[in-house]
Amino acid sequence: MKLRVGLGYDVHQLAEGYPLYVGGILLESIKGAVGHSDADVLLHAICDALLGAAGKKDIGFYFPNTAQEFKNIDSKILLSKVVEIIEQDGWKINNVDSTLILETPKINPHIDTMKAVLAPILKIDSSELSIKATTSEKLGFVGEERGIQAHAVALLIR
Ligand SMILES: [Zn+2]
Repeated sequence: MKLRVGLGYDVHQLAEGYPLYVGGILLESIKGAVGHSDADVLLHAICDALLGAAGKKDIGFYFPNTAQEFKNIDSKILLSKVVEIIEQDGWKINNVDSTLILETPKINPHIDTMKAVLAPILKIDSSELSIKATTSEKLGFVGEERGIQAHAVALLIR
């Protein structure tokens, strides 16, 4: 049996007039995330954690932000494609842990919904997917509500 750990990190700018997709769902928010896809920072961090654990290149290599086919794409589609990529090498996901960092809105009331949406895409039980959230205590670009960050780690098993 082989185990591999991977790390993922992502950041997106926040601006008024954009939707805020986080963890595969649309949140009510004055500001939304700016990006080529739906700019779901958590999903992009999880994609990179999975790709990293499998020894693959990063999400931008597989889904370049210059490609028209990925414009405004639902990041759940990207995540399911990443799961396919790692499965081709015989990997299964053991568990994923993640942390979102943003000032507002509050994430905690939505975490169970996010886990219910994402666990089937990852083909794991929702108990094997952790989503945590914190603020940046008003410090830096996240604290000033100019951006949103996510970190993720994934453990793959083969
Ligand atoms: Zn991203």
